[in-house]
Amino acid sequence: MDYDGLLEKAHKELPEDIGTGERFEAPALEVLTEGNKTIIRNFSQVLQKIRRKPEQVIKYFTKEFAVPANQEGERLILHRKLNRDLLNKKFNEYVKLYVICSQCGKPDTHIEDTGHRSKMLVCEACGARTSVK
Ligand SMILES: [Zn+2]
Repeated sequence: MDYDGLLEKAHKELPEDIGTGERFEAPALEVLTEGNKTIIRNFSQVLQKIRRKPEQVIKYFTKEFAVPANQEGERLILHRKLNRDLLNKKFNEYVKLYVICSQCGKPDTHIEDTGHRSKMLVCEACGARTSVK
């Protein structure tokens, strides 16, 4: 790797809360596989960061991967061998869809059940409301 490459790498590894106006990035999942199971070791921690309930994220994963999942303490167990990068990619998509405000890019949001089978992503920072699935 050349010097510029190293600089770029170092820059990317800076903690996400340095500087203001930085876009929120989904926390990385710590994934390990055990036999035919895939385990997300830091599941509860990650949920705290994105302020979502486990069942919302579990539902998303079970649907996306068509695989049963259950929470065991801090960890989430997915009952199939899954690729770590793919899991993180899907999780990033979840965060983009269900956590980050599409108007201001901040993660200070919550999901409001408006009934009629529809939900709204409500931003506490700018007040934007976006319908989500
Ligand atoms: Zn917003």
